[in-house]
Amino acid sequence: MNYKNLYQSTRNKHLTASSAQAILGGIAPDGGLYTLPSFKHVGFDWQALLDMDTLSISAAILSLLLPDFDKDEMRALISASYQSKFETDDLTPTVKVGSDHVLELFHGPTSAFKDIALSVLPRLMCASAKKCGCEDEILVLTATSGDTGKAAMAGFGNVPGTHIMVFYPVDGVSAVQKAQMVTQEGSNVKVCAVRGNFDDAQSGVKHIFTSESTSFIEQSIQLSSANSINIGRLTPQIVYYFAAYAALVKDKTIQVGERVDFSVPTGNFGDILAGFIARELGLPIGKLICASNANNVLTEFLHTGYYDRKRPFHLTTSPSMDILISSNLERLLFLLSEDEALVASLMKQLNEQGHYQISRDLLLKIQDLFWAGCCTDDETRQTIGNVWQENGYLCDTHTAVAWHVAQQYKQQNPAHNPVVILSTASPYKFPEAVLAALDAPKADDGFAAIRSLHALTDVPIPQNLASLHEKIQRHFDVIDPDEMLAYVRKYAEEMR
Ligand SMILES: *Cc1c(COP(=O)(O)O)cnc(C)c1O
Repeated sequence: MNYKNLYQSTRNKHLTASSAQAILGGIAPDGGLYTLPSFKHVGFDWQALLDMDTLSISAAILSLLLPDFDKDEMRALISASYQSKFETDDLTPTVKVGSDHVLELFHGPTSAFKDIALSVLPRLMCASAKKCGCEDEILVLTATSGDTGKAAMAGFGNVPGTHIMVFYPVDGVSAVQKAQMVTQEGSNVKVCAVRGNFDDAQSGVKHIFTSESTSFIEQSIQLSSANSINIGRLTPQIVYYFAAYAALVKDKTIQVGERVDFSVPTGNFGDILAGFIARELGLPIGKLICASNANNVLTEFLHTGYYDRKRPFHLTTSPSMDILISSNLERLLFLLSEDEALVASLMKQLNEQGHYQISRDLLLKIQDLFWAGCCTDDETRQTIGNVWQENGYLCDTHTAVAWHVAQQYKQQNPAHNPVVILSTASPYKFPEAVLAALDAPKADDGFAAIRSLHALTDVPIPQNLASLHEKIQRHFDVIDPDEMLAYVRKYAEEMR
């Protein structure tokens, strides 16, 4: 293997791993995130992708960036992963809405974009374990802001040799998201609510990975992660940027080589970082528009270079973006500064003081690629209503945030390129908020809201959500963040 294809920790270049090791481990032992130091060397013929179907684009990109897998092996793995799981023939269709384009990422088994990566990750992880000679049972720890948890369980449920444990913020997910998770079947799944917000849950999981006291858990158990801190989770998300670009070439919105801007509803910065990597691989992306809700820590950072997590945490109608510690920003800082000592120092400041400031040079590099804006709940609500009235298109709350910020961007940048808005969830995952945006009467609960929304709009209900009300609750645990380690330890003992 080429040394350049070696992953390294964002905090220490001497902590390296093969792609299989990085997928299996999830996070580097020093708390850094495994990343390829540069994408420039790969010399990728991206134009060759434009005539391919999505599965072939996937195989090309994943085998390039995860070189422990050759193209044929990757192609077989991907085909098996997506087989009859998505409700549309095209995994990620791009549709024209008004003068913009919407990249629909929610047609998978749990109706959120997380399905695209989490359909593939279990197979990637099992194959990686084999390549690394690891025969241990794998325990996948996952913090979720609502969508990763269910998508990860749909992927890992009943996969031999794996166990999956999901922590969600007790009051931080929608009723439908909660119902999806606590009804999950499978002998290898465990779901637990945490009295705290998503950041508490994610910090708890990261702490378990790097804690000395987990070494005993790891005897005969391999811990891993299904969050976007895992490179195996991030890589499949690069693919749909190429697929959307190819769709715009096909419908003659652009010619090959012309630039496209993407508006991405952002929380943990994983999805938008995948767009950055697509750009590094050659895709003609103009600006990546980072769209936040009222938790606008990234808007401020991208405008000023000052990252400050010490601010009120808002529970919004777009809960999957209620995040103040955006993990994958660390990868961007690493890739653009090429200075892992700097990244280690910034992350230490974030951890200990709650804030950091980057240099003007680095900020300018970032601003060259990214544009940022935010959207309140009121604006989200108006946007859903307007998009429905004007275009007959029903979007969810997260998509509405990206839509609203895309319009801000276009207004302030008249010379913008064609804009693709990433649609990350089905409106039926957040039916109460979407109903309210259409000025419809309030429904009694999430299930009634799904029915009302359908009656009002006639937009089809995804299968998994249509049958959700028949499922019984199986998971009841609620713990404090400082009990997470003990909770994992107890489960690990039962696993043995
Ligand atoms: C997770 C999620 C996001 C945010 O994606 P990140 O990769 O965390 O930035 C946006 N919308 C929905 C519906 C999500 O589930």
